[in-house]
Amino acid sequence: MDRTYLIKPELDEDYPVIDYGKGVYLFDISGKRYLDASSGAVTANIGHGVEEINEAMMDQAKKVSFVYRSQFTSVAAEKLAEKIALSTPGDLNWSFFVNSGSEATETAMKIAIQHWQEKGRPLKTKILSRWVSYHGITIGALSMSGHPGRRSRFVPLLADFPVVSPPYCYRCPFNKEPKSCGYECAKELDVAFRRIGPESIAGFIAEPIVGAAGGAITPPKDYYRIIKEICEKHDILFIADEVMTGFGRTGTMLACEHWGIVPDLVSLGKGMGAGYAPIAATLVTERVMEPIKKGSKVIMSGHTLSANPQSSAVALAVLEYLEKNNVIEDVEAKGTYLKNSLKKLKTLFPFIGDIRGKGLLIGIEFVGNPKTKQSFPRELNVTERVVKMAKDVGLLLYPATAGEDGKSGDAIIISPPLTITKREIEELVRLFTSALTKVQEELET
Ligand code: PLP
Repeated sequence: MDRTYLIKPELDEDYPVIDYGKGVYLFDISGKRYLDASSGAVTANIGHGVEEINEAMMDQAKKVSFVYRSQFTSVAAEKLAEKIALSTPGDLNWSFFVNSGSEATETAMKIAIQHWQEKGRPLKTKILSRWVSYHGITIGALSMSGHPGRRSRFVPLLADFPVVSPPYCYRCPFNKEPKSCGYECAKELDVAFRRIGPESIAGFIAEPIVGAAGGAITPPKDYYRIIKEICEKHDILFIADEVMTGFGRTGTMLACEHWGIVPDLVSLGKGMGAGYAPIAATLVTERVMEPIKKGSKVIMSGHTLSANPQSSAVALAVLEYLEKNNVIEDVEAKGTYLKNSLKKLKTLFPFIGDIRGKGLLIGIEFVGNPKTKQSFPRELNVTERVVKMAKDVGLLLYPATAGEDGKSGDAIIISPPLTITKREIEELVRLFTSALTKVQEELET
C-alpha cells in the first residue's frame, strides 16, 4: 500500500498488519508472533480464534444478523439478558444492550437520571465521579471521566462530575498509611454529596478497579462498603463501571463481588463480546427499574444496533464458553502465579514501584526513585518505551497513566486472556524481563 486512508490512533506510526490470532497469540503478515498480554485493550478475554465463538457467529448469521429493536426482539438477545441476570449478583435483572463501553456508561447515567424523574425528583441530574478514572469517550461519558489528559480538548462541553479522590493507596491523596487511614478517600464522598447537595445528584460512578487512568488501582477492603452506605444514606444511586473488570477479568463475574456489594447499575463492555463482536450493556436492578416500569415504561436511550442478534449471539457464546470451561474459577490462581512472578522482578528492576490489581488485571507503576516514589520526568516517556520495547520482543502490554493530571505517571496493565496457561504465563514473564532489561539499559545511557 502506498498510502493509508485509515485514521489510526497515531497518524505517524507504522502499525504492523495483523494476519490471524490463535489463543494468546497474534501473528502479523511478516510472520512475527506476539503474546497478547493485554488482551488488546483488556478485551480478548478468551483469546483469539476460538472456534465455538466463530461457529455461534456463523449460525446466527445464517438465520438473521440484524433486527431493529423497536420492531422485534430475538432469541439471542433474550437468552443473553437472561443468562446475565442469572450470572450476576443481587437483582441486577435487567439488561440494556449497546455497542461500546462509552455507550454503556452513558446509558447508565441516563437511566439513573430517568429513575429519579419518574419518582418525581427531576432535579437529581448530576452523576458525580472520582479523579483518576475513565468512563468513556463520548461527551457524557467523558464528563464523568476524571482524566484531564482526555478531557482537555473538550472542557467547555463537559460537566464537572469528577469531585473526589481515588482509593490510590500507593500514593494516598491524604498522605495516610492503609492500615490507619480511616478510609478518608471514601468519607470524602459524604462531604462532597453534602457540599453539592444530594437533591441535585442522581448517581455516583466508579470503576471497581481503576483501569486505563491508573493502572489497576485497587481499593482497600472496606472501601466499597463505605461508598455504598454513603450513597444509600443520601438517596444516590451507585453505578459500577465494570467495562474493564466485568465478565470474569478479576476472578468473579463482576469485580464488585470481591467486596460483597451489589451496585444499582452496572456498565459492561470489552470482555462481553471478547473482541468477537461489538457489544456492551447497562445492567439495572429491579429497584431502579420499578418507577420506570410504573411510569413512562420507556428508557429514553438506545442505538440502531442495540441488542442486534449477531452481537448478542456472540456474547452468549462467550458466556457459555466461560461457564463450560470453568474459566472464571481459575482466574485467581493464574493471577496469583503471574503476580508473584512479576514481584520477583522488583529486585532486578528497581524502577518497578508498585504491582497491584486482582485476578488477571494487574497494574505495574514505574518510578524514577523507588524510595521517594518520585515519578519519571514525562519527557522520558517510560510507559511508551516499555510498551514499544515489549512489542519489539513480541509481547503486547496496555499503557495506562498513573498521575493525577492524566498525563504524567507511568503505568502499564498486564491482562492476558483468562485462558492463558502456566507455560504461557512463564513465557510472558520471560519476554517482559527481556523488554525491561532493554528499557533499563536505555534509561541508564
Ligand atoms: N469504562 C471503562 C472502565 C473503560 O476502561 C473503557 C475503555 O477503556 C470505557 C468505559 C469505554 O469503553 P469503549 O472504549 O468501549 O467505549
